[in-house]
Amino acid sequence: MPEVWKASIGYAAVTDIGMRRSNNQDSHAVVKADTQERFIHRGHLFVVADGMGAHAAGELASRIAADQIPLYYLRSNCGDPVTALRTAVQRANTDIYQRGQQNQEFHNMGTTASTLAILPEGAVVAHVGDSRVYRTRCGKLHQLTFDHSLVWEMQAAGQLKGDAALSSSIPKNIITRSLGPAASVQVDMEGPFSIEPGDRFLLCSDGLSGQLEDDEIGPLLACLPIELAARVMVDVANLRGGPDNITVIIVEAHEASSAAPAKRLREGEAVSRPIIAAAGFCFLAAVLLGISGSIGPMIVALLLSAIAAVAAWMQARTEQPPIAADDGTVPSGRRRSGPYRTCSAKPSAGLLQRLDQVLIELKSAAVDRGWDIDWQQVDSLIASEDEMRKAGKLADAMRLQAEAIVSTMAQLRNQAGRG
Ligand code: CA
Repeated sequence: MPEVWKASIGYAAVTDIGMRRSNNQDSHAVVKADTQERFIHRGHLFVVADGMGAHAAGELASRIAADQIPLYYLRSNCGDPVTALRTAVQRANTDIYQRGQQNQEFHNMGTTASTLAILPEGAVVAHVGDSRVYRTRCGKLHQLTFDHSLVWEMQAAGQLKGDAALSSSIPKNIITRSLGPAASVQVDMEGPFSIEPGDRFLLCSDGLSGQLEDDEIGPLLACLPIELAARVMVDVANLRGGPDNITVIIVEAHEASSAAPAKRLREGEAVSRPIIAAAGFCFLAAVLLGISGSIGPMIVALLLSAIAAVAAWMQARTEQPPIAADDGTVPSGRRRSGPYRTCSAKPSAGLLQRLDQVLIELKSAAVDRGWDIDWQQVDSLIASEDEMRKAGKLADAMRLQAEAIVSTMAQLRNQAGRG
């Protein structure tokens, strides 16, 4: 009995208000397929939404996105999950826009929406805003989404070439696209990306990506157990000030996913095959109609064939093969499909030092403020970490550091009654 689809993924999700905000305007959703049939048609769906607007408005906008996108996606009759997902995001946009129009308090509210569908044929991403979807594979971190932010748009347009000062002077939080402010929205669709056993995906709000660098996110995502990875990422973001709400969903593809029924797509495989097929079919029909002397229908079929051919050509123009910058910059020039940025996901001595710094600062703050921490446990983790580091086992050392950070922060949260 092919029940492997149930075990084909694991996931971990954490959302946190952060250290400075009075409410959490992030929302997220995890909808695992509950039958094999649903898995084949819709797969597993994950959503992260980061709301913006005065107080309750941002919360409401992201909540509508996280609730309605899965609802519209699962209820859709469309046979193609890519189209169903895009339409679901667009319909959620309409809901948020209309709600904003009805009530002055919610006027102009907005939200990002990054969604990941794990399907038998691959991973599909629908995306608006600057929340992100990353993937780790074979020691590399890939950002699969393009940030709809002013700085990314200007970099992509080549307006910041070589001007690091100008680049760093642009506020990172100005976004150029979101759900809610307008009646319609353009949704970026990425993929389908092939899924290999061991691939890990991360969906996150900018409360995470604003506090952790890609070369930190990569090793933490790739090397730690996923629950620990999700927790420590949020803890580190908070220890660096936690200026924003933080939401993290990690999805891991297991060995068993390779046995999932149905075909898999190769990376970068074009989505335009049905259009090419339609063009070919109409052309064939035109030839046959021409042979049989039906000139009127032949002209209609020729026209349809030409329209489909033009549509396929235009889609092919926007689906360039993936080109990702290895130096952390956004590739400039014409927009391409993801991955947009790539860096190493291997733990390095430099990363271990940075995590050490986090622990040192945490410990000195705890001592200064007289927090009641079980240091014996934390110190024994740090001692073991040191041994691992000396033995050159950097991934093990990083895991022990992460456990020390998470353990200390859990004790602090319990004391502060934050749960
Ligand atoms: Ca945010």
